Amino acid sequence: MKLRTHAACGILLATLVSPRISFGILCWAVIWSVISDFDVYIPTVSHREITHTLAFALFSGALVLALGFASFYAILASLCVILHILMDSLTPNGVPLWIPFSTKRVRFPIIGGRIRSDNWIVNLSIQIIAIGAAIVIISS
Ligand SMILES: [Zn+2]
Repeated sequence: MKLRTHAACGILLATLVSPRISFGILCWAVIWSVISDFDVYIPTVSHREITHTLAFALFSGALVLALGFASFYAILASLCVILHILMDSLTPNGVPLWIPFSTKRVRFPIIGGRIRSDNWIVNLSIQIIAIGAAIVIISS
């Protein structure tokens, strides 16, 4: 999926799990929703490998806790990474969810592998639905 799509879904996730939404929490969710794809800037890391695993999602939450943030921020960080992985599992490449225990790539059941990550119609539709739902939740 595109970075904007991951960011939009992170915003929706934040509105669903936050008791009080704020601009800071939305920014936090956006950062952790897209951080997995910044692996392309790390020379020794392949794209969609270690940063697209359940281990990385758990590591993200642990790192946030270790840095002294409240547990809410750690849980939100891990959930955003998990949501990112879930969305990328819809694509033909899938994700190596179980590294370091298995390198087998995982696709979402039934519809996984049928959505190309660069499909602009799917990306735009998800962005509109996610941001629309977030706006409805925030304004209610
Ligand atoms: Zn990704």
